[in-house]
Amino acid sequence: MDLLEYQGKQFFASFDIPVSPGEAVTTVEDAVAAADRIGYPVVVKAQVHVGGRGKAGGVKLAANAEEAREHAGNILGLDIKGHIVKTVWIEFASDIAEEYYASFTLDRAAKKHLGMLSAQGGVEIEAVAETDPDAISKIWIDPVDGLTPEAARAWVEAANLNPEANDGAVDILLKLYRAYTEGDADLCEINPLILKPTGEVHALDAKVTLDGNAEFRHPEWEEYAATEELDEREKLAKEKDLQYIGLEGSVGIIANGAGLAMSTLDVVNQVGGAASNFLDIGGGANADVMAAALEVINFDETVKAIFINIFGGITRGEEVAKGIVEAMSRVDLRAPIVIRLDGTNADEGRQILADAGIPEDKLRSEPTMLEAARAAVAIANA
Ligand code: GDP
Ligand code: MN
Repeated sequence: MDLLEYQGKQFFASFDIPVSPGEAVTTVEDAVAAADRIGYPVVVKAQVHVGGRGKAGGVKLAANAEEAREHAGNILGLDIKGHIVKTVWIEFASDIAEEYYASFTLDRAAKKHLGMLSAQGGVEIEAVAETDPDAISKIWIDPVDGLTPEAARAWVEAANLNPEANDGAVDILLKLYRAYTEGDADLCEINPLILKPTGEVHALDAKVTLDGNAEFRHPEWEEYAATEELDEREKLAKEKDLQYIGLEGSVGIIANGAGLAMSTLDVVNQVGGAASNFLDIGGGANADVMAAALEVINFDETVKAIFINIFGGITRGEEVAKGIVEAMSRVDLRAPIVIRLDGTNADEGRQILADAGIPEDKLRSEPTMLEAARAAVAIANA
């Protein structure tokens, strides 16, 4: 779950990371009132789930109420890369001596946390990584050992910040590591992390992605979920309790088990197609779950073929087949189904499908995963 900047700052503040005081508002009048309370100068900042707001005109300094009114008026309703600004965050403007970049994320290949720190902040880190990779100081942290103050200091010194910033940076990075790990985040990024002319180090922006799998132990995340921007397809899938991720391709995928679902995406890709989604109906899925999965796939207008890939273990072939027949009687599927049904009770399942008398151009069965992928991709790419 991605947080808006101001939510990320509240999250940071709960781990004692210094951020500027401010208020989130949704109207111009409230923006001016908030700015008056905070005191000038303020920054008016668009709250959208996308970066590069500054360049898009979504971050403006205001020296007085008149300017606050003007900027809030311009920013509210602004379209930033397809995201319409509904909320602005007003905060007390900071004086900036230098802008740095800091983040923690997971390096899955290394099986360690990865900390990145750069004296070249404010701009997109991807650009720095491309033009001047040596300008990013990296640290890999074993999650069992954690980040020690000594390691943090060595990491900061390697980044060649203004030496005046080193103590403050070490302090913030230790807190940021705690926020990232204890706070159950997948990503914590501060860009820019600033050095003020007075010598303090401070988080001027916040990009936080929380690990949805940890939601159960964070009742306080509920308020973040309220502003979450889900893909409409993902919203529907969530209502139906399905493990679904929307993608850009045209082959709808339904598989049982996350591993098989991922392999299915790979095979579709391998034979020249592209999946429109990841959908794992889990082990032991019954007819209702299959019907719900088909409804979610069918909701997506870009789907040209539906590839159902089932290898039954706990999942039983006849339940899968009943679900398909049931769903096809309930909803008019806009795309044909290609199914590979194998494993437990596959023969019974295939019999149910055959008995249902569904025409070949709406449902066909293929003996292997590869053949089914080829058939589905041929339909989708036709
Ligand atoms: P982003 O463009 O979406 O990453 O938004 P940021 O919050 O990072 O702001 C973009 C830029 O606006 C920063 O890199 C700063 O240069 C500038 N900025 C943001 N807040 C302040 C502030 O309080 N004071 C000053 N002087 N500049 C700011
Ligand atoms: Mn930023």
